[in-house]
Amino acid sequence: MRNLSADLDALKQQHRYRSRRVVDSIDGVEITIDGNSVTNFSSNDYLGLSQHPDVIAAMQRGVKQYGAGSGAAHLITGHSRAHHQLEEELAELTGYPRALLFSTGYMANLGTISALVGRGDAVFEDRLNHASLIDGGLISGARLQRYPHSDIHSLCNKLEASKSAEKLIVTDGVFSMDGDIAPLPDLVKATTRHDARLMVDDAHGFGVLGKEGAGSVAHFMLQEEVPIYMATLGKAAGVSGAFVAGSEALIETLIQRARSYIYTTALPPAVAEALRASLKIIRSDSERRERLHAHIKHFRSGASGLGLQLMNSPTAIQPIIIGDDATAMKMSHRLFEAGFAVSAIRPPTVPEGSARLRITLSASHTTEQIDRLLEALQKCSPTPMEGTDA
Ligand SMILES: *Cc1c(COP(=O)(O)O)cnc(C)c1O
Repeated sequence: MRNLSADLDALKQQHRYRSRRVVDSIDGVEITIDGNSVTNFSSNDYLGLSQHPDVIAAMQRGVKQYGAGSGAAHLITGHSRAHHQLEEELAELTGYPRALLFSTGYMANLGTISALVGRGDAVFEDRLNHASLIDGGLISGARLQRYPHSDIHSLCNKLEASKSAEKLIVTDGVFSMDGDIAPLPDLVKATTRHDARLMVDDAHGFGVLGKEGAGSVAHFMLQEEVPIYMATLGKAAGVSGAFVAGSEALIETLIQRARSYIYTTALPPAVAEALRASLKIIRSDSERRERLHAHIKHFRSGASGLGLQLMNSPTAIQPIIIGDDATAMKMSHRLFEAGFAVSAIRPPTVPEGSARLRITLSASHTTEQIDRLLEALQKCSPTPMEGTDA
């Protein structure tokens, strides 16, 4: 039998041990963690909607109308009017005929992939796809093939060689640890050439990219060509949950076959009401999105001025590559002492040797807060200017 304590000790030695910190209060981007007040640069609340008074008020109204919980799965008695209206509004915003709510993004990905492919079929996934997409591919029973990050040529070779009749290509729309956007137009071409279906997980693009924040597929205006669009509602939308958008036939298939949809309790209806308020703001308050994009530009120019190693990211996710796990951890600790929550992301979440600080920006930050973070980054870097003249 495996010795759990010895395994844990080994993780600690590798600087791979993960532990949680307790958040006591949240006031915009200022949070209190284990008694320390810090500015949060680790949240996925890219538009600050989790704290928006309209969203909070809608949730409170929802609780008054429906109570605290849904009481059952969607196919039993858990599917409220609030859920139903939210689905219609999500379909309209994203430009698809229908949308289906899931309780989490993780569950949406497991349920969708395994409803669409199974034994004898093939799934093709970008090597940097989110863990839930990889797990969905694995539990589906289809043959899972991973291609190098955004490498269309390699993907096409794999598609060419595949003998499966059913081929599903799955990609993040915006890569969660790198912040870059998937080459969706090229992926669409690959699906047409090889008679495959494309699924995009837009957890980090929805609300941030595209007209009215409709996401990365809308950004490229490819709704007709991307049949399966998935996004989460706990990030830019600021609440919780996820959805899949697509054709009538796709959504009905998921209702019949997605096990993580069928066998789980529906989100509380009040959560759906909060999300309806949040969608309204996403659609109408373009200034909020513009502020975020201005922050992204400001941060990138400041960081590159300091010689920090940025990635090719036009989104709210702005990682700084450190390389070695222990150094990344040390920097994250120093930043925390300086008053900033910035997480260090280590393998296996990211490839070996690419440990990084994952900085995320929000429309709720001020320019001054970003400037102070840049100053702290400069002070915390063990070798701030090394290698920049190469
Ligand atoms: C966060 C995330 C998920 C999981 O969504 P949850 O609603 O948090 O379960 C799925 N895919 C990607 C790309 C994500 O970043």
